[in-house]
Amino acid sequence: METSKDLDLFRRQMAKKHRVTCLSNSDLLKIYHENLPKKSGKGRPSLFALERLLIKRPMRSLSGVVNVSVLTKPYPCPGKCIFCPTQKNIPKSYLAKEPAVQRAILNKFDPYQQVWTRLLSLKETGHPIDKTEIRIIGGTWSYYPKKYQEWFIAECFRACNEFGGRKITNYELRITNLRKEQNKNERAKCRVVSLAVETRPDYINTQEIKWMRELGITKVELGVQTVDDKILNLNQRGHGVQEIIEATRLLKNAGFKVSYQMMPNLYGSTLKKDLAVFKEIFTNPDFKPDFLKIYPLALVKNTQLYNLYQQGKFKPYSEKELTKLLIEIKKIIPRWIRVERIIRDIPSNEIVEGGSKILNLRAMVVTQMNKQGVTCQCIRCREVGARYDPKEKLYLFRENYTASGGQEIFLTFENKEHTKLLGLLRLRLHNQEGGNLLPENSGAIVRELHVFGQMTQITHGGKTSINSNQHKGLGKKLITEAEKIAKKFGYKKIAVISAIGARPYYRKLGYKLQNTYMVKSLN
Ligand SMILES: [Zn+2]
Repeated sequence: METSKDLDLFRRQMAKKHRVTCLSNSDLLKIYHENLPKKSGKGRPSLFALERLLIKRPMRSLSGVVNVSVLTKPYPCPGKCIFCPTQKNIPKSYLAKEPAVQRAILNKFDPYQQVWTRLLSLKETGHPIDKTEIRIIGGTWSYYPKKYQEWFIAECFRACNEFGGRKITNYELRITNLRKEQNKNERAKCRVVSLAVETRPDYINTQEIKWMRELGITKVELGVQTVDDKILNLNQRGHGVQEIIEATRLLKNAGFKVSYQMMPNLYGSTLKKDLAVFKEIFTNPDFKPDFLKIYPLALVKNTQLYNLYQQGKFKPYSEKELTKLLIEIKKIIPRWIRVERIIRDIPSNEIVEGGSKILNLRAMVVTQMNKQGVTCQCIRCREVGARYDPKEKLYLFRENYTASGGQEIFLTFENKEHTKLLGLLRLRLHNQEGGNLLPENSGAIVRELHVFGQMTQITHGGKTSINSNQHKGLGKKLITEAEKIAKKFGYKKIAVISAIGARPYYRKLGYKLQNTYMVKSLN
């Protein structure tokens, strides 16, 4: 495999084989790892050639930033979930073949090396790396010792700050100072514009939130799975729905973006119940997450669930049932949610039975939706990406909804038909405690500002390319509108949960750093 024509052919062949119309790059990689004969030879492209071709495509930077996933070291998980296998040497529930996991193992879980390696491969394949979203994955973040957390994040920042220069990996010499590395990042070539961790709802409290802000975290992925106490209990999740509601509220009040990881097909649930659970999180103000990840349950050996399966007490959904459920869910997704992933994270040969064995679940769902003529309204499916047309007229839309005891105002720039989304802003107005984090009188907080489209570089004096809409003032227009709204509601200040690398952007707009937030007076 040498040219992109070869790649297209391979993609078409595999799509046909797997009965879908399209296959994403990650699907292709999975097929490569799982389905092709192990020995190299005819019909099996070299992995290097395949990856090179895949990464050369601009897919990864189309939503405006590049993603860097970093794994924490293996550490015990406080959870005892009946569906979770325990694999040696990698954090619970992660698949050893995933690229991020491979990279982590090769780098002995060193955060600096992981970030550096990833940035290097992105840069070598032509990606602008000046806006980076760091996602820390692995175990339950809040369960790791504080000292480890601080070192880990400081090292991620240091890698971004030093990238392009000399790589300093001598352990004896380095004493990383988190605050220093954060400040440096404001002027670094590679800026951290989002920092996400994943944790359990029962670990979120005001103290934890304060600590997360000091670390520079802006987004939290909660392992929610379901919002039914009986099912949570049956699966031994170790917490109930009340903890999910409280965690969601505290995080939103402090300005965090909240993502829910959901798991259909849990022990004790049914297809009908699962659909009801999704309806509940989309409509009940106690939930309403900003992002969603759907990981259908994968039945694997060496779990308590497997014993139940053998006793005839559990049966996973079939391929047909699961795809149908996912389509029903996609049909009712609100416009203000971004579905980040529909995926299983276990290799298919380890899955005993059921629909989650399908390799390319998402592609299968998309194909069937196209056939039925239905579309998904989520943010991800509407992001403009490569469809940007500079001549098309844009409209500013506003949607209000109540969530977690506050008012959410969702502002977007879209085309008239709502099919192309170019920018969004989430403003939250509330009068509750936010862990005493927010400066006085400031219950108006911008939780997210994102302009989509092919990424353009920050440091080039504001030059923009013709096919990109970033830096054409959409972000500024959105923030000005948010300020107007907050003022109208009587707020004297507005705050932004800005990632460290985005601070200079807000400084230019008159914001000042106050208690880890960027704040502007509205008088
Ligand atoms: Zn969607």
